Amino acid sequence: MKIPLVSYLIINLFFIASANGQQPFSSVKDPEITDFATVVQFLSSPDLEGRMTGAKGNQIAASYIASMMQQMKLSPLNPSDNAKPDITGYFQQYDLIQITHEGTKLIFKDTKKSLHDTFSIHTDFFTEEFFHNFRINGTANIDFSSVADNQTGNALNSDTISPKAIVLPETIEVYEKQSAAEKRNGSISSKSMASIRLDIHDNLDKDDFEKTGFKFEVRDTQNDVPVIYFNHEKSLKILDRYLSGKQPEKEEGKRSFKVLEVEIQGNTQLSPVVARNVIGMIPGRDSLTAIVIGAHYDHLGMDETGIYCGADDNASGVAGVISLAKMWYKSGEKPPCNLIFACWAGEETGKSGSSYFAGQIADPRTIRLYVNMDMISRSAPEDTFSRTLSIGFRAKDPQLKQLCSNENDQLPVPFLLDLWEVDGYTGSDYASFLPKDIPVLSFFSGFHPDYHTIRDTYEKIDLDKMERILYLVNHIIKRVLLN
Ligand SMILES: [Zn+2]
Repeated sequence: MKIPLVSYLIINLFFIASANGQQPFSSVKDPEITDFATVVQFLSSPDLEGRMTGAKGNQIAASYIASMMQQMKLSPLNPSDNAKPDITGYFQQYDLIQITHEGTKLIFKDTKKSLHDTFSIHTDFFTEEFFHNFRINGTANIDFSSVADNQTGNALNSDTISPKAIVLPETIEVYEKQSAAEKRNGSISSKSMASIRLDIHDNLDKDDFEKTGFKFEVRDTQNDVPVIYFNHEKSLKILDRYLSGKQPEKEEGKRSFKVLEVEIQGNTQLSPVVARNVIGMIPGRDSLTAIVIGAHYDHLGMDETGIYCGADDNASGVAGVISLAKMWYKSGEKPPCNLIFACWAGEETGKSGSSYFAGQIADPRTIRLYVNMDMISRSAPEDTFSRTLSIGFRAKDPQLKQLCSNENDQLPVPFLLDLWEVDGYTGSDYASFLPKDIPVLSFFSGFHPDYHTIRDTYEKIDLDKMERILYLVNHIIKRVLLN
């Protein structure tokens, strides 16, 4: 009786295979939660200290990814001469300069009132990068009028409004040339020397501000404009001591401001860092062309508020890359072209890893597609059923858009797709491939309140949604490989 049973199974398997004849590369399975959950968990563990490029946790992440590539027998980017390959063959190293701003200070003073408050970087405020040392010493205009009446456009009564921005000299005369958005954001202009904002940053809630205090941002242009973000309540308390008893000064009957003596000392330290992309390949039948599947593994590191674990951003994308590589490895299938699996360093600090890789591509026409996964594991609380998924593509690739939407339609429960046209102005890695005229698809499950905060942790990951996204990504890649 055993023989007929075996025959029966074979016939049925054959029947199933024929019925699914439309499904390409069916031996390449779809990643399941067990294929990627532990990778997200490991990379977003607090032990990796937020995976800041150049820091120890980032190096551990790179070694971990490279070891998995080695286990899956991916071909290293740089095969070693030794008979026994080691994981360093998967590293694509490049040099970076790390910028720190120890000793940067903000000072408020009022000699008449004998007031002097010094605020220090890290403890009182944070700063984005700037590239030089500077000292700004001047009178700041505390602007009461950047909140205009929506109906009339006139400034509201300054006595009843909280100040919205402190702007150092030379702002007022160019105020009218600013865009509506700039006005709304508080009178910063290219001629401002510095702006100290009292607005609450969009991505941060009140709790963050209680903890973080100021956010100090400096742009490195000829018209370098330092910007300090305040906790609104905290700043008002401090300002009260300086501003009480002062009369607002008026400009053209519309704008009014009070003045404050401010000093900003900006210090910059530069130190060299070695960064590593981690890259492995499954060679294809056509070894001259490739699809690159990539995600950045670096994140924001840590500060006094805690560790930025970056589970969604972007341990999720890296786990996606690794799990797709695993499915191809396990299938034993040789893809029609090379599949390059790439985990980038340096995205959070200017997408240096993917830019470096793209810069090394000798002939961009050999890259058929770059598939980017940057944050693929979260959903808004209300987004429980018809889940949204955002896919970016180039306007000149309508066939890719069509392909994504066709594949999505095949899903038992399709995503609500947000198909958008990419442009070059983004921090995400797909932008590194656009100047090379390489088609891209960028997968993203959407922003959430934990984005770039210490709350982006493993517990918040939506594993089911991630599994469904990877199913779709896998099917889209297979479909592209067939064409
Ligand atoms: Zn990020």
